[in-house]
Amino acid sequence: MFTTSAAVKALARREATRNSSVSFRAMANLAAYEDFGKNVFAGKVADEYLQKHGASKATLDDPNWVNTDADKVANAVFDWAIDRGANVYCHWFQPMASSGVRHGLTGQVQNMMFKFNSDYEVVQDFKGKTLIKGETDGSSFPNGGLRGTHCAGGYLALDTSSPILCRGDTIFIPSAFVSYYGAALDEKTPLLRSNAALDKHGARLFTLLGGDASSGIQANIGLEQEMFLIPRDQYYRRPDLQLTGRTIMGKNAPRGQEMCDHYMAPLSSATSALAAMQEMQDECWRMGMPLKTRHREVAPNQFEFAPLFGSNTTQIDQNVFIMQIIEEVAAKHGLAALLQEKPFNDVNGSGKHNNWSIATSSGINFLAPDEVIEETGNDEAFAVIMAALVAAIDEHGDLMRAAIANPGNDFRLGACEAPPAIMSTYLGDDMTSYLEAFMNGSSAKYEPGTKTLDLGTKEVMPFQVPAEDRNRTSPFPYGGARFEFRSVGSAQNVSLVNTVLNTIAAEKFAAFADRIEAGENPADIAREALKKHWKVIFNGDNYDVENQKMLTESGVWRIDSGVEAISVLSTEKNVALFEKMNVFTGTELTARQDVLHDHYTGTVEMEALCMIDMINQHVIPSVKESEVGPLDELAASITTLKAGVAEIHAAESSVDKAQLARVLRLETMIDIRAICDAAEEVVPAENWTLATYKELLFLDQQTTTEPEFFGE
Ligand code: ADP
Ligand code: MG
Repeated sequence: MFTTSAAVKALARREATRNSSVSFRAMANLAAYEDFGKNVFAGKVADEYLQKHGASKATLDDPNWVNTDADKVANAVFDWAIDRGANVYCHWFQPMASSGVRHGLTGQVQNMMFKFNSDYEVVQDFKGKTLIKGETDGSSFPNGGLRGTHCAGGYLALDTSSPILCRGDTIFIPSAFVSYYGAALDEKTPLLRSNAALDKHGARLFTLLGGDASSGIQANIGLEQEMFLIPRDQYYRRPDLQLTGRTIMGKNAPRGQEMCDHYMAPLSSATSALAAMQEMQDECWRMGMPLKTRHREVAPNQFEFAPLFGSNTTQIDQNVFIMQIIEEVAAKHGLAALLQEKPFNDVNGSGKHNNWSIATSSGINFLAPDEVIEETGNDEAFAVIMAALVAAIDEHGDLMRAAIANPGNDFRLGACEAPPAIMSTYLGDDMTSYLEAFMNGSSAKYEPGTKTLDLGTKEVMPFQVPAEDRNRTSPFPYGGARFEFRSVGSAQNVSLVNTVLNTIAAEKFAAFADRIEAGENPADIAREALKKHWKVIFNGDNYDVENQKMLTESGVWRIDSGVEAISVLSTEKNVALFEKMNVFTGTELTARQDVLHDHYTGTVEMEALCMIDMINQHVIPSVKESEVGPLDELAASITTLKAGVAEIHAAESSVDKAQLARVLRLETMIDIRAICDAAEEVVPAENWTLATYKELLFLDQQTTTEPEFFGE
């Protein structure tokens, strides 16, 4: 496209004005990796500072340090912060219903770490008690009635499981956020409670099977983060992207992802995406967040990062920070990052695959057959664990579905890019045959097969691969050592997802342990569970409609509507489950359900109001100016949209409002979008005032409206 040298120079000039460091940064990412990890208060870095105050990194291993050594730790944190150039602290928490609306998904009030003494000298004002606890007036956070405006106290308590981070002049203290009465107002508190349940019952079962669980049991996760990076100047020409994160209208460009040519293509140095991703990675590594993998995804302008996995609280805290950094750094490079699940029609949306495994804190992975068998000396131990998990997925697939009911996921689940809202699991043929044989009485141990691939060449030597293929259509495939929850949405705080996974696993581990303690044989319990829940294992193509019908008829949980899915949080079965595992009270569940429904409704209302503005201020004027297009239908659609919003306002309960919002979004607004897109199709380009898919989606082709780019 840019054949003239003037055009090339213009491109270079624009890159230079977008970010003066782009040209060299793109090639020079190897600077100073010695600083990697310096901005996280953990391990060796923390040890150095703790030693100076009579403590050590071992102090941080026992959460009781908040009672015994808080002042020592606070002094060490203070010194570390000052050395990093930081003099501000905040308790950093995760309010409910933040995804898609709250930058960085967290809340914080930032305080200086100093005060003046009577001589007006600046002195340290950061003690143990400052570090471990904060209080906040949090009445404006969604709480579902758990707290009235007249009793607004919210408490912030340091989470010892996730390290303190430093960025810029501020340190971030990961904290749980609860009401005066201890009710969970955040995402983290239930997650921590579910970790306790998993630890307790996982350890019971593992010990009964012959393993050593004395180090504790934890869930490990790795979160693959997908996103779009689009030109920021075009983003400013889309009120819908700016205010809601997705395009509410927009005709398809002549090119989409038909050829899958974007997938894993080279990260081009000719656009600012590579430099932006390098800077994002660099910032994250400094903060101890190992964003190991980067690549292009299938849709044009879609990218992905994946970190090294770790404990779930740390990973989730890091993921919300990564999302914040992605948005901020993108802007510095003339880009806008879109984290919403479905920013564009007819090309892939974005997910956040939640890779999940359970392990002893000393590192024995419950999902790695060889490790379990070696540690327990019990050939059947792995099958027993798998049987408990299969039972958990089958019985509580409704909760797994609820946990991914983020508003943006409405447009992803069930399409040909993300698994359907039917909660089956793929185990692979090898594992399935093993469990089937076990179910039918075999007690042989599982030995994962491998096979040799021989390309028939001298140069590429034959090599070994796992006997199992992958399945991208299953919502919850087993991948040898981990499950991968593939339907999770890109914009989500995945705490609820992991709270559910931990709780349903813990409950089954508890049930198995109870029976074993009462004298039953573990293998018999596992066989019975497998027989009862076998239907949830499905290794075929989940996109195939016939298969979906078969799974639905067999009774595998299927909840197509996200709004309905949210409602399962308060069913009798689920209240009993969460109360038994001490994760949520019934009151907390009802509150959370209302908050999630309100979040859904609020999201749709913003989208509908955006659509009204865009039709009035852009589409209708363009159509009038050009004297073509469906003017009458456009005018009528404004009336329809306003009536739809009014109807939502008039509805009584949170769930009623959300149900109406869903119809408005997935029926009315889709019809109206078709009218807008028909207008875009006929209006001459120079009269169309909104950025088009062509302008938004093709960084590689440098689509732009700036005349200097069209050469001379
Ligand atoms: P893929 O695209 O094959 O799923 P990626 O490398 O993109 O692979 O992402 C895999 C993610 O799963 C990474 O974040 C990785 O750290 C994580 N992971 C790998 N093993 C485990 C495990 N045992 N438990 C939890 N997460 C894991
Ligand atoms: Mg993956």
